[in-house]
Amino acid sequence: MRPETICVEAGYRGETGDPVAPTLHLSTTYHQGEDGTYEYIREASPTIEAFERVIGTLDGGHAVAFASGMAATTAVLDGLRPGARVVAPEIGYLGVRELLAERNETGLLDVTVVDGTDTGATVAAIGESCDLVWAETPNNPMVGITDVAAVAAAAHDVGAKLAVDATLATPLLQRTLELGADYTVHSATKYLAGHADSLLGVVVAKDAADREVLAARRNSTGAVPGPFEVYLGLRGVRTLALRMERSQANAAELARRLDEHPAVNRVLYPGLPDHPGHELASRQMTGFGAIVSFEIGEGAEAADAVCAGVRVISNATSLGGVETLVERRARYPEEAIVPDNLVRVSVGIEHIEDLWADLERAIAAT
Ligand SMILES: *Cc1c(COP(=O)(O)O)cnc(C)c1O
Repeated sequence: MRPETICVEAGYRGETGDPVAPTLHLSTTYHQGEDGTYEYIREASPTIEAFERVIGTLDGGHAVAFASGMAATTAVLDGLRPGARVVAPEIGYLGVRELLAERNETGLLDVTVVDGTDTGATVAAIGESCDLVWAETPNNPMVGITDVAAVAAAAHDVGAKLAVDATLATPLLQRTLELGADYTVHSATKYLAGHADSLLGVVVAKDAADREVLAARRNSTGAVPGPFEVYLGLRGVRTLALRMERSQANAAELARRLDEHPAVNRVLYPGLPDHPGHELASRQMTGFGAIVSFEIGEGAEAADAVCAGVRVISNATSLGGVETLVERRARYPEEAIVPDNLVRVSVGIEHIEDLWADLERAIAAT
């Protein structure tokens, strides 16, 4: 089956007399007997398994669902021995960067930070010995692209594993494990659930054995998602292909129009031919996604005014929902590496002309 069909089936297919829609199983415990498959929800439950089945199938690996994208990330890092060497990108999801920085400070991990879009610098940082390479592509919020196949080869040369946060790509736009990654991590809170109403994460391991290790760790640490959140994730996945198609088409058109707008200094969208990752993204992805960032004015002023001025679009953090959101990421002091004048747009599924009219008006008012 093709990805669109896999999404609609959502990891579950009933037979005569069974419900057609996925079922929300809230029970934490199961009757025990000779052929009881389930025991306790921390180990496995049918709703969570359906979600793992659909995401695992889409990504071509073995999925474990977690309570959030951060819990999924933590589960991968928790597999490292104390003092393990990690190479990680300087631009990427702030929460992950802070988690790695904290583990580096306490000596739990030895983290080297590099420009993840620079393959040469990443390979040099991996050096002779490394345990884990962390990548995020496309990255948040600069929409930079990492060469997954090249970095995977360099990591594997020294016996390191490669984990890729592919939240911005989703399994539909990037087959991260096929490109060479050992793990792909998604904040399912974003596109997979897709409606800004469910906190959820997932790790997909290439190896079935790695999946079992992660599932055992989830059981022991307790970072299990709630069934209702997973149910919303399943519901979201059923329309993922349609939502991505519309969001991405809107994003491409907004990027094109912003690029021509005299008040906009620079547009970051891998679909634009002059984006530094354009060629690479064309090779390793089947679409350029729905995050567009742009720089406007000097300093924070104009960018803040755009965020405050929108009326159809909302000024809010997060991404990947049906609604279009803008945020000036550098408003967080910890996000100082991002230009002050950069506005990130998570493009939703509204009508393109309503989005453009809103953005154009907010820009004109700066
Ligand atoms: C949101 C996000 C995360 C964290 O996910 P949560 O579900 O919020 O814990 C990790 N990586 C990326 C790229 C994200 O956008």
